[in-house]
Amino acid sequence: MRLSRSLIPTLKETPSEAQIASHRLMLRAGLVRQTASGIYAWLPAGWKVLQNIARIVAEEQEAVGTQAMLMPTIQSADLWRQSGRYDAYGPEMLRITDRHQRELLYGPTNEEMLTDLVRSGLKSYRDLPQMLFHIQWKFRDEVRPRFGVMRGREFLMKDAYSFDLDYDGAVISYRKQMLAYMRTFQRLGLKAIPMVADTGPIGGNLSHEFIVLAPTGESGVFFDAAFEEIDWEKASFDSESPADLERFFQLATEAYAATDEKHDEAEWAKVPADRKREGRGIEVGHIFYFGTKYSEPMGLTVSGRDGAAVVPHMGSYGVGVSRLAGAIIEASHDDAGIIWPDSVAPFPAVIVNLKPGDEACDALCEQAYAAFKGKALYDDREERAGAKFADADLMGHPWQIVVGPRGAKTGMVELKRRATGEKVELSLADALAKIG
Ligand code: ATP
Ligand code: MG
Repeated sequence: MRLSRSLIPTLKETPSEAQIASHRLMLRAGLVRQTASGIYAWLPAGWKVLQNIARIVAEEQEAVGTQAMLMPTIQSADLWRQSGRYDAYGPEMLRITDRHQRELLYGPTNEEMLTDLVRSGLKSYRDLPQMLFHIQWKFRDEVRPRFGVMRGREFLMKDAYSFDLDYDGAVISYRKQMLAYMRTFQRLGLKAIPMVADTGPIGGNLSHEFIVLAPTGESGVFFDAAFEEIDWEKASFDSESPADLERFFQLATEAYAATDEKHDEAEWAKVPADRKREGRGIEVGHIFYFGTKYSEPMGLTVSGRDGAAVVPHMGSYGVGVSRLAGAIIEASHDDAGIIWPDSVAPFPAVIVNLKPGDEACDALCEQAYAAFKGKALYDDREERAGAKFADADLMGHPWQIVVGPRGAKTGMVELKRRATGEKVELSLADALAKIG
C-alpha cells in the first residue's frame, strides 16, 4: 500500500476520549474510528490486523477438528423463546421488529441457533461428536461501552460449540478447545492464562476464562509464575489422543490461577511465595461446558447405542477477536507507539523514502516495494523525515526499511527492528533476506 494514497489517518495528538493505551494507539495509528457509541469501523490497516487475528484463531480451531461455518447476525426471537432466554437475557439484547411485526434480534451469541440447526442434521450417536465454529459480529447493548474495541457494543467473536454423547465426550471436546486456545494466544504473541471461572447452576469445574495480563485489565488475577514459561507450540500434544489431552489439561490447569471472584486463599497458600503473581488482566476468551442446558429444552436428541433417545451434552467456546486487537496492543507497546508481533502486523514492513523525487531513492524504494508484492507499506509521502519515523514507530510495523539519498546510490538501506530498536546498514537484498 502506498501511504500517500491510503486511508490511514494517523493523529499526532492524543484523542481525549481514550483512557487506555490501546484505545489511544488504535485511534492515533488510524486503525479504527467510532461511528456510534461502542460501534467501530475498521479502516484498512485495522482491518488487516483483524483479519490476521481471525485467520490464526480459525487455523487453530481447524487444527483440533472444529468445522468452520457462518451463521447470520440476525436471529428469530422464537428460537430464544424455546430455550427460555428471550426474556432472561435483558436489556443487553438488541431487539428488532420487521415490517411484518415479526420479532427478531441481533445475536449476542449463537447457542440457540446452532442447536436448532443441528436438530435436523444429527440423528444417531454415530453422528457425534461434532465441533463447529464461526467468526461473526455480535451485538450486546453494554451499559458502559468503553476502552475502544475492548468493550464495544458490536464486536467480532469466534464462537465454537461442541456436541457429545455424554459427559466424558464433552470433557474431551473441552480439552481440545483449551489446547487450541493456548496455541492461538501464543501465536498472537500473548501470554494468556486459563483461570477457573464460575459455572453457575451447572456446577463442576469446566469453565475457564483466558486472561492476558495488563495493568488496565478489568479483572484482578492471581497466578503461579511457573505457568508463563510453558511453550504450547513446542509441547507436542496430539489433539486426537485422549491421553495427550489429559496430560495437556493437567499442565494447563495445575498452576493455581484464578480471577478475584474465584480466589481461594487455601489454594493460593500452596503456591511458593517466589512464584506468586498478582495483577490485572483482560479476558480474551471464555470456554464453558453446560451439559444439556439448551439441548434439553430445545428437544435435541439422537438415538443412542441401544436405540433410546439421548440428549447431547454441549459446550461453547468464545474468543473476543476484535477485543484481541486491543489486548495485543496493551501487552505490546511503548511510548512511541504499537509494537506488532509479526503474526498480526498489518504490514510486515514499512519502506520509508526519505527523499521522494530523488531518482536513486525512488528507484530503490520501488524495487523494495515490488519485492513485497503490495504487502508492505510504502511511505512515499512528501513529509519531513522526523514525521515519517514517528508514524512508523506509532504504527508499529515489525521492520522499517529506511532509504536515504546517500545509501541509495550504492543500493544500501537502514533496517530497523521495531521491537528492539536495533538498526543495521545493509544492501536491500540482505535486508529483504533478513525480513524473510
Ligand atoms: P465480559 O465479562 O468481558 O463481558 P462475557 O463473559 O460477557 O465477557 P462471553 O459471553 O464469554 O463474554 O464472550 C466471549 C468473549 O467475547 C469474551 O471472552 C470477550 O473476549 C469477548 N467479548 C465479550 N463481550 C465483549 C464486548 N462487549 N466487546 C468486545 N469483546 C467482548
Ligand atoms: Mg459480557
